[in-house]
Amino acid sequence: VQAAAAPVLNTAESERIFAEAQDLLPGGVNSPVRAFKSVGGQPIVFDKVKGAYAFDADGNKYVDYVGSWGPAIVGHANDEVNDALKAAIEKGSSFGAPCELENTMAKAVIERVPSVEMVRFVSSGTEACLSVLRLMRAYTGNEKIIKFSGCYHGHADSFLVQAGSGVATLGLPDSPGVPASATATTLCATYNDLDEVKAIFEANKGEIAGVILEPVVGNSGFIPPKKEFLEGLREITAKEGALLCFDEVMTGFRIAKGCAQEYFGITPDLTTMGKVIGGGLPVGAYGGKKEIMQTVAPAGPMYQAGTLSGNPLAMTAGIKTLEILARPGAYEHLERITNKLINGIMDAAREAGHEVTGSNISGMFGFYFNANPVNNFEEAATSDAEKFGRWHRGMLEQGVYLAPSMYEAGFTSLAHTDEDIEFTIAAAKEVFKTL
Ligand code: PLP
Repeated sequence: VQAAAAPVLNTAESERIFAEAQDLLPGGVNSPVRAFKSVGGQPIVFDKVKGAYAFDADGNKYVDYVGSWGPAIVGHANDEVNDALKAAIEKGSSFGAPCELENTMAKAVIERVPSVEMVRFVSSGTEACLSVLRLMRAYTGNEKIIKFSGCYHGHADSFLVQAGSGVATLGLPDSPGVPASATATTLCATYNDLDEVKAIFEANKGEIAGVILEPVVGNSGFIPPKKEFLEGLREITAKEGALLCFDEVMTGFRIAKGCAQEYFGITPDLTTMGKVIGGGLPVGAYGGKKEIMQTVAPAGPMYQAGTLSGNPLAMTAGIKTLEILARPGAYEHLERITNKLINGIMDAAREAGHEVTGSNISGMFGFYFNANPVNNFEEAATSDAEKFGRWHRGMLEQGVYLAPSMYEAGFTSLAHTDEDIEFTIAAAKEVFKTL
């Protein structure tokens, strides 16, 4: 498979639409990273997506490794998911009352995810994480939580703290509008650094409600956990009477059929989910041990609700997506092609004289322009961001759509073929020569 030598993208329609959007939407977008600010240049405006591909408003075709930021794991606009949705919409798009699809979806989640005995569906990952935070506090009676710098848990006030270890115990908010009181109980530690977590527990004896983390980080680029880090967190939370929550909004059903917790053999007390379980529609979920989940209203006193929660279309798309993923060979395919992709990219980079470090687990991958291994956000931040921006633009011009930030993981899907991967590696070879 040959990549074109120096194609010139015609993006006139993208530019026209994005220019108009500047006047209509803050920054021209409805979610910040889409604006391409960290890589420079204009964003590509999508017209449609199908399988492994995205098509922009000018008719350009891209092999897509963003996958709508994770949900598109069975391929965009999957025919089986679409057929199920067409049948479901005939029965109505929202009930606001119990329906059996919620039970079917709940059973699918409970059957697969080791920590989940009972689940509550919501409409986004943000909602799942802010609800689980309330639950950790309600169940333990403590207010403080530990999160890790570079881990993203949605945009609820208490999570908008990514400050590094230097200000670990100060909990300074990242965004104006977040009151210091909302983050005063958020303690921030360095990912993969168990000693720091132990020190925070020691300094806040009996006051910690729980620890929340991405079991594989996808919001600082791609950072796998050290096994002893996850084991240590499980041990220390159990010993200190705090809850352990895996935020599997990104890793859930992507790393493995039973999520990252099955892959690593560590069972948290609580789990948040999103992205994949919505099959492309807005869904989030949180679940865990029955005893803890019974705290949630109306079974218990902790209030949490949602007009569109358990929406029949979202449940339908999620059920079909999990069913497709459960078929033999699904995760083997994701692992094989993603491994081929990341190794191919890194070999091409090194052949062209660039220092890179990276890896994949199943259909989640990433690399940094960095000579050293990356174990946390602070190390990720030492990578060459300017070179990443040129790499991103070069790949776009070659017909490959990558996440427009070096702080984002990449995703493959069941629809990505060997030919797509070979096309991408050939494109990478051309682009690395120019950086
Ligand atoms: N948690 C993690 C690990 C995420 O990656 C994200 C989104 O990227 C969220 C939570 C928030 O999910 P949403 O964007 O659906 O609100």
